[in-house]
Amino acid sequence: MKLEHIGIAVKDLKSSTKLFSELFDQESYKLEEVHSEGVRTSFFRVGESKVELLEGTTSESPISKFIEKKGEGIHHLAFEVKDIQSEIDRLTKLGYQLINSEPKDGADNKRIVFLHPKSTNGVLVELCQEKT
Ligand code: ZN
Repeated sequence: MKLEHIGIAVKDLKSSTKLFSELFDQESYKLEEVHSEGVRTSFFRVGESKVELLEGTTSESPISKFIEKKGEGIHHLAFEVKDIQSEIDRLTKLGYQLINSEPKDGADNKRIVFLHPKSTNGVLVELCQEKT
């Protein structure tokens, strides 16, 4: 596993993308909307990892609900795995609770699954695998 990206929930993707562009002294390499998740995303490369900014597109979006409850900030950590299905099987057997039990399409050409923060010390963990 490697830390693939850190997801940050933001209220306004446009102004946050500008802010992080200044911080990292580089442009975002990708803007992408994931309709099924109700999010708009913006990605930056930071060394071996990435930063994903996420803005909810509807009030029902998990990102909008997160911001409503906790405010802006770190939303999830995403770890890249070689075989997402075998990781799902392994972790389910170990008793981890998954939010979605089947991998689904995420941003940036990935298949993704989320572990419930109850299982992981309050941290929302995403597992992802590059789509081939
Ligand atoms: Zn993510």
